[in-house]
Amino acid sequence: MIRVIRLAAMFSTEPATVCRMTFSNIAQSSRRLIAARPLQSCSACHPANHELRPVLRSQLLGWRITCPLCGGLLRHPGGHDRPSPFSRYHGTALIGERLLDNEAERSVRTWTSPAEIARLLLMRRVTRPISRGYEPWRFRVLGAIIPDLDDVVEQRSLPTPANPILPLHLRPALLAGVAIVERAGPEILRMLRGQMMGANKARFSGAIDEIITHTCRSMASSQLQLI
Ligand SMILES: [Zn+2]
Repeated sequence: MIRVIRLAAMFSTEPATVCRMTFSNIAQSSRRLIAARPLQSCSACHPANHELRPVLRSQLLGWRITCPLCGGLLRHPGGHDRPSPFSRYHGTALIGERLLDNEAERSVRTWTSPAEIARLLLMRRVTRPISRGYEPWRFRVLGAIIPDLDDVVEQRSLPTPANPILPLHLRPALLAGVAIVERAGPEILRMLRGQMMGANKARFSGAIDEIITHTCRSMASSQLQLI
């Protein structure tokens, strides 16, 4: 019975139904990265000439760049693919994709939530010295880790709180950023705090203090268990 429900949830012509049926088990922190409408598709598993065009689960997942069925690269559903300027980060982006996927689908976290790292990396940062023509929307914390980002982003392609999902051609930068922060550990978050200012810095600090406190508690508790 469970298998039947899972199969029914994988293929449906109603995106809203897919959301209700398929994503109830997804970690809370990952849910904002699930789209209501298809963002992408795999040209091998979801051919464009398929008459019914059922929506696959992977089409709605804002942390994926590869198809979970065949491993191929996902593409823009309308065929309007833009080459990613971050292809040299591909290997690192795949690590980030796996971290986010493990958290969303299997509730596996490392020292913190990869989805929370992704959220923090998309907050605005300040560059110093502040240049003439400074555009606050352009500079994100992620750009401190992946410097090419600042030059290639467009205002309409950057996520907002209402729409937190990056377009497919920019997503490898975020996934690579998540992998780099996860690998570096909590210290890198302290360092990134220096890139922020004002209320934004206060919000970032609050979030990372909570992460660091929680990480210390988890480490202390695992050490106690070893004793
Ligand atoms: Zn595929």
